[in-house]
Amino acid sequence: VTATLSVTVDVDGEAGLPDGGRGWEKRLSSRSERTYGLVRGLPRVLKVLDDFDVPATFYVPGVTAERHPDEVRAIIASGHELGHHGHTHRRPDLLDPADQRSEIAQGLAALAEYGQEIRGYRAPGWELTPATLAALPEHGLQFDSSLMGDDEPYIVGGVVELPVHWSLDDAPYFASTADPQGLTNVWLRELELTAAERRPLTVTLHPEILGRPHRVDVLRRLLERVRTLGVEPLTHGRLAGRLRPTMPAAPHPQRQRPPR
Ligand SMILES: [Zn+2]
Repeated sequence: VTATLSVTVDVDGEAGLPDGGRGWEKRLSSRSERTYGLVRGLPRVLKVLDDFDVPATFYVPGVTAERHPDEVRAIIASGHELGHHGHTHRRPDLLDPADQRSEIAQGLAALAEYGQEIRGYRAPGWELTPATLAALPEHGLQFDSSLMGDDEPYIVGGVVELPVHWSLDDAPYFASTADPQGLTNVWLRELELTAAERRPLTVTLHPEILGRPHRVDVLRRLLERVRTLGVEPLTHGRLAGRLRPTMPAAPHPQRQRPPR
């Protein structure tokens, strides 16, 4: 067992606004913050990851992948992994089981356009449900990153769970106008403990939040410490692939729609 860091980036876009971004076209201010995340925040985050040669996992809703193909291509061109983050970014717990299944299928179809095999899922709002969990292996998805039941990966519903926590996500720290030092302290201390306990760690960030000039330094500090502590940066896909041999295999190959 080694200490690993998985940087995960949730590229919600306009779909990250409440109710999947319903009415986003008319909400110019809210929409502009999302646009900022895509056109300013995302390149800034990609630059820091590139400076440290760290591959990351980018969870993207299907509608965001459809609306912003250039940004998704930039993520792939930089050598990163794409993950499934719902289709409309509506929380699974607010949808009936049929709509939850359709979210999985539609999101996969949208991401399949980019040619990468999609192996991982993260529930919008981190609200995984039994119906959505059951749909993951049926669609060839091999891991999830939405639950908070442990510090270390575990098996749930036939998939590898790569756990998260709100305290390791940038969003709560900057809900108003917090000092970036708060998140820096938490991420660095958690990384030290991860190195001491020789286990995987996942942190989560959003381009429209951490991609602002004074905040992206938090990521830079974290990756500097990754080097000095000898922690291995690893995408979720590679981490799950490393763990899977000791865990049950997904029963069905991923279903992919041919390109339009
Ligand atoms: Zn999200």
